[in-house]
Amino acid sequence: MDLDKITRANIRKLKPYSSARDEFQGTAEVYLDANENSLGSPLTKWYNRYPDPHQVELKQIISQVKSVPPSQIFLGNGSDECIDLLYRSFCEPGRSNVIICPPTYGMYEVSAGINDIELREAPLTPAFQLDLPMIESLIDENTRLIWVCSPNNPTGNSMKYSDIEELLNNFSGLVVVDEAYINFSRQRSLTNELKDYDNLVVMQTFSKAWGLAGLRLGMAFASEAIIAVLNKVKPPYNINQATQDLAKKALQEIGQVNDMILEIVAMRDELANVFRELPLIEKVFPSDANFILAKVRNATDVYNYLVAQGIIVRNRSNIQWAGDCLRITVGTETENTRLVDALITFMKQFSTTPQSN
Ligand SMILES: *Cc1c(COP(=O)(O)O)cnc(C)c1O
Repeated sequence: MDLDKITRANIRKLKPYSSARDEFQGTAEVYLDANENSLGSPLTKWYNRYPDPHQVELKQIISQVKSVPPSQIFLGNGSDECIDLLYRSFCEPGRSNVIICPPTYGMYEVSAGINDIELREAPLTPAFQLDLPMIESLIDENTRLIWVCSPNNPTGNSMKYSDIEELLNNFSGLVVVDEAYINFSRQRSLTNELKDYDNLVVMQTFSKAWGLAGLRLGMAFASEAIIAVLNKVKPPYNINQATQDLAKKALQEIGQVNDMILEIVAMRDELANVFRELPLIEKVFPSDANFILAKVRNATDVYNYLVAQGIIVRNRSNIQWAGDCLRITVGTETENTRLVDALITFMKQFSTTPQSN
C-alpha cells in the first residue's frame, strides 16, 4: 500500500506543532519554557505541568501488555478521537468515501458526516457477518477506509477472522478493525497480524474491559508510518496527565482486570440463558462482548417499563435482520437480578400469554 497516496494532501505537507516539550526533551531543574504556573495548583498532585505529548512511559507499558512496539501505538482521547483522526488524516472531504457494515457503531457515520466524507453501506449478512461481495462492489478508487467492528456493537458477535484477512489482502486502503470488546471475545486480536499487513489499523479502548470509560483513553495499533501520520495530526496534549497516571496504575493490575473479564463473561452467559427462558424474549443473539442483543416482543413497551423501574437499557428498534431489540449491558449480579425480576413482573402484568405480533 502507498500510504502517501491515501494521506490527505494538506496533512502530507503539514509541519506539526512543536511544543515546549518537543523543543527540549531532556530533564532539567528549572522549567520556564511553557508558561505554566510555577507555584503549583490547588491540588495535592499539582498537575501544573503539561503532560508528555508522546506518552512515552504509558506506551512502554501498553507495549509490554499488547506485544506491540511503542512506535506502532497511537493513544487518543477515547477511540472516538482515533476515529475522527483517521478521517482527518486519510480521507479528502467531498471526495473520498468509506464503507461501514451496519448495524454497527454509530460514530463511524457521525464522524464521516462531520468530515464531509461519503458513507457507503454494506449491511451485514443475516448471520451478522461481513458481506464480502457487497463490500467489494462498493469499493472504488476513492475508497479510503473500511470499518469493521469485531465484536460488533450492537449485535455482539465477532466477524470471521478469515473474512477480515480477505479484506486486508484485497483492499488498498485501510481496514480499521474496532476491537473495543475484544477482551470478552473468544476470537484473538488482529494485533497479531500487524507484521503482515501495512493497511491494518486495530482500535482498542480502556473504556470497556479496563473499566475506565471516564478517563477517555483509546488505542490504535498500526504500521509505524500510519501512527506517525496520526501523531502529526493529533492535538499535542490530547492525553491529559491524570489519565496517563491512572492508566499506568491500572496497567499494574492486569490480574484484577482479567478476573473481572471472566466474571462478566460468566454472568453474560448466565443472563443469556435466563433470557432464553423468558417468553417475552423471542431471540437472544450470541455475544462475544459485555452486552446482549435480544429481540423482544413489544420492545418499546418493555423499554419504557424498565425506565419506570429505574433500569435503563438501550432501545434498538428495527435492526436489520433482527427487528425490535434491546441491547443490555451485563451488570453486577444484583443489577442483573433486578432486570430479570422486572422483566418477569412486566410479563405477569401485561402479557400473560405469549403471542406473536
Ligand atoms: C464503546 C465503544 C468504543 C469506545 O469508545 P471510547 O471513545 O474509547 O470510549 C469504541 N467502539 C465501539 C464499537 C464501542 O462500542
